[in-house]
Amino acid sequence: MERLALEAALEQRGHQRFRARQIFQWLYRRGVTDIAAMTDLPRNLRAGLAAEFALTTPALVHRETSIDGTEKFLLRLGDDRTIESVFIPDTPAMTFCISTQVGCAMACGFCLTGKMGLLRNLTAGEIVGQVRVLADALAMRDARFNIVLMGMGEPLHNYDETMKALRILADEHGFALSPRRITLSTVGLLPALEKLAREPVMPNLAISLHAPTDAQRGELVPINRKYGIGDIIAACKRFPLNRRSRITFEYVLLAGVNDRPEDARRLAKLLAGVKSKVNLIPLNAAPGIPFERPSDEAIDRFARILSERGLIVSVRKSRGRDIRAACGQLIVEGQKKSAAQQLAVMM
Ligand code: SAH
Repeated sequence: MERLALEAALEQRGHQRFRARQIFQWLYRRGVTDIAAMTDLPRNLRAGLAAEFALTTPALVHRETSIDGTEKFLLRLGDDRTIESVFIPDTPAMTFCISTQVGCAMACGFCLTGKMGLLRNLTAGEIVGQVRVLADALAMRDARFNIVLMGMGEPLHNYDETMKALRILADEHGFALSPRRITLSTVGLLPALEKLAREPVMPNLAISLHAPTDAQRGELVPINRKYGIGDIIAACKRFPLNRRSRITFEYVLLAGVNDRPEDARRLAKLLAGVKSKVNLIPLNAAPGIPFERPSDEAIDRFARILSERGLIVSVRKSRGRDIRAACGQLIVEGQKKSAAQQLAVMM
């Protein structure tokens, strides 16, 4: 629940609104999830809350550490579905990579999560719950960290719960996480992107572009057949940005597919006039992914062509590859979809 909704619920039950603030502080600042232990709440309120409200936290099932310090967390949800979240230290900031769905419906050709299909959306509580669990497990409740919505799922395909989660994370009595510390990465679902542009709480935006033409992108990112590059770029140009901020364009480099000099030149042309920075992501290869990572020379050449044309370019360092925690490697196998869910994905 958002704090305002909790305040209203408390008031309705004859309690004072400020109790919501106390509950938020217990939950998010101190990491106390046992209502009985929230000792500054009156006894009758604690009993009433425990009887009427469920306070659930994703269960930490498994934790793996990469040689580079990246950590992957397997979390079990209330219905026994599982998701992964990743902690990436020193990027230079500390970063939590959080999931927004169990699986994903976008089916991008190079992404393992896409192979799962969409099993279900996460609730705002489950999205924020990942942050609570990681903060606790890493003893970082009082530390500064950034959040990237780059785990499993397409955040704009689960718009309402994702935005609700961002508001809860931003709450001054909870994590008080500035939206500037949060980056939402999306394939660019156009209607949702346009809605996002009107939100009062606005995260940083990253667009998973991956190709400079509709023909190429349509092959890699199927949703491009519905929302093409021209419309996405136009929406980006209209996107309200702070004076200093830029939209990140992510570009997975696939050997011989989208890493040629002409692709770089087309990309530079496409992004001319957009307040952008380009983040090149050399493919994290995996069994079942029918693409290869380009050579370091090809990556350098691609980056050079972009920067010669005035673009800000970075190459994403692959983190946690040895534990399959890198971009596109999050997959939790053995979860069956019901027929109804399969149908819902297709519609
Ligand atoms: N659905 C959102 C959030 C996922 S973010 C989105 O698409 O933006 C994860 C990023 O990693 C995306 O840019 C995605 O395209 C990229 N990615 C997926 N598979 C990858 C792989 N095998 N190697 C490198 N990057 C990959």
